[in-house]
Amino acid sequence: MDINELVRDNIKKLRPYSTARDEFKGQASVFLDANENSYGSPLPANYNRYPDPLQLDLKDAISKIKGVPIENTFLGNGSDEAIDLLFRAFCNPGKDNVIILPPTYGMYEVSANINDVEIRKVNLLPNYQLDLEKIAESIDKNTKIIFICSPNNPTGNSINRTDIETILANFNGIVVIDEAYINYAKQKTFIQELTEYVNLVILQTFSKAWGLAALRLGMAFSSTKVIDVLNKIKPPYNINQATQDLAFEALKNIAQVNEWIKESVAERAQLSAALSALNIVKKVYPSDANFILVEVTEATKIYDTLVEEGIIVRDRSKVTLCEGCLRITVGTKEENEKLLTVLRNF
Ligand SMILES: *Cc1c(COP(=O)(O)O)cnc(C)c1O
Repeated sequence: MDINELVRDNIKKLRPYSTARDEFKGQASVFLDANENSYGSPLPANYNRYPDPLQLDLKDAISKIKGVPIENTFLGNGSDEAIDLLFRAFCNPGKDNVIILPPTYGMYEVSANINDVEIRKVNLLPNYQLDLEKIAESIDKNTKIIFICSPNNPTGNSINRTDIETILANFNGIVVIDEAYINYAKQKTFIQELTEYVNLVILQTFSKAWGLAALRLGMAFSSTKVIDVLNKIKPPYNINQATQDLAFEALKNIAQVNEWIKESVAERAQLSAALSALNIVKKVYPSDANFILVEVTEATKIYDTLVEEGIIVRDRSKVTLCEGCLRITVGTKEENEKLLTVLRNF
């Protein structure tokens, strides 16, 4: 499969913006090339210089943890930036289409709409697994991307590995596996499969298990063919210096992150069991993520009651295949106890 054939013509022809730091590489001590303020920043730390456009130090540190080479790694201003750039790289507005598998993460559809790209929806089966037959029927020559979210948001389950492999083996477009919640899953990442499939894009993020949602930092792992296209079209300085520095520091605290993952997974089991015991709860879906999808008797009323008590969950009760459901993030032990107290008194 030739990735180049999937890339939009205007992107193939594009001459990317060349930064001052792209044009000069080497040693120097006086930088009068980028119109920065040479005097400094009105802060304890200096941010007066433009950051590294390719974030090589940070990528090197990520590479040591993920085992993915730097040239197969793209960093975005959140995974959401990578999603948007995939549309811009591969989908001709008004002509191409993508397949999404509802109920799933909302940004794929929003990003498609912003880019004027047709969305073909193939609902998950009632067991929240892939409907491979319908997916195959929906693909045509203009289908450029299939988005698979695993573990899936908002249902919480992982998608069967063999089903994902079937799509990877048969689809001649980009297959995105969004692994935002992979740290909480029993299922293992598809990172090892990157060398097998040039069209595989894996999304991960610092927003969930890494506890850095406010920094806006997402990762895309793929073949160099895909990564090179993303780097060509991204805004030159898409990851700011503060984010690069703080994420670099955070990576040294992986032990703390792993501790929290263990705690979240243990709390998830406890909370699931406690929720199952409530008579307002009709079903607790098994979760491979840090949230639980729960079918309740009166979703809207229960949601409103929680809000009155200052507890916010996500009302997914109007979403197809999630009728009557709330999506509840696993909190700290204390937060989960507060939630359960309100629900017990409902
Ligand atoms: C939270 C989430 C993300 C993270 O997006 P960021 O832009 O990196 O914060 C990505 N995908 C899914 C499915 C999510 O739930």
